[in-house]
Amino acid sequence: MGPSARLRHYMYDNGPLILDGGLATELEAQGANLQGDPLWSARLLHTDPQAIRNAHYRFLLSGADVITTATYQASVTGFVNHLDVSSERARELLMSGVQLSKETVERFASEGRPAGPRRPLVAGSVGPYGAFLHDGSEYTGAYAEEMSVEELKVWHRPQVDCLTAAGADLVAFETIPSIKEAEALVELLREFPNSKAWLSFSCQDGRRVSDGSLFTDAVKTANRSSQLVAVGVNCCSPALVEPLLDSAGSLLSPDMSWVVYPNSGEEWDTEQGWLTSGKASALIPELSRTWMKQGAALIGGCCRIGPAHIAELRRQLKGSSASSASAV
Ligand SMILES: [Zn+2]
Repeated sequence: MGPSARLRHYMYDNGPLILDGGLATELEAQGANLQGDPLWSARLLHTDPQAIRNAHYRFLLSGADVITTATYQASVTGFVNHLDVSSERARELLMSGVQLSKETVERFASEGRPAGPRRPLVAGSVGPYGAFLHDGSEYTGAYAEEMSVEELKVWHRPQVDCLTAAGADLVAFETIPSIKEAEALVELLREFPNSKAWLSFSCQDGRRVSDGSLFTDAVKTANRSSQLVAVGVNCCSPALVEPLLDSAGSLLSPDMSWVVYPNSGEEWDTEQGWLTSGKASALIPELSRTWMKQGAALIGGCCRIGPAHIAELRRQLKGSSASSASAV
């Protein structure tokens, strides 16, 4: 099963596009202190944009075909509340997430990388409303029960508006925990008819997204959009990906591909943080060929996945290191 026509528009060969890993993970590896910050990596748009450029650059060097902006936890309201800036400045900060990514791609290309026709894409990250709430509900989606689709659209509209206006190649709706929020995003995307996006869910097991709905229903929701290039899962354990895709494989629209970027599979403890297990990060490269055979055309990593893991993923999927051209 190859990539859909909608996605092939962005591709130079028939192999999957390699996504980057966890941007916050890489920023923390370089010394940023994001733990417990209500803006998370988005704070650095205000305080240290160079750190974001550097992190994007390292993912490009490792072979990412797509880099994702530092806007997962960014919102106009969040910036106004936590940075004490005007809403106009907040909008500029959101747009700067795309600009920093594009500048980094320009620099990378001006240095003659990558060799060959591959030019990396910029995906504008939109996290769930629960990420703004900063109370753990981004992984349950519980808030959606109390909200209407219209209210969720109102929340997401300014962010999507900024990211598309700033020229993101794609919007990445990611770590979405509920069908209702997905419906809101699918409807909202229609207000930006020239924009394409992928829609990626967080999941609780091999059949269900985080709020307990079946992944099959998540895929049916995605199928209603003519602007989505891919639907899938992120920030779950790599072990859940194959059963999740299997559960909904027959439903995937021929216009759509899977997008898959799990975390390392290590467990998160609210007191102790990530509980490290040595083998975890090897799982993504190891399982990636299975996902590709299942129809995944966008494959990368989420939390705890750094540039070295992305380089290994690229070797697994493309049989070449980051610096060589993709075969046409
Ligand atoms: Zn993650």
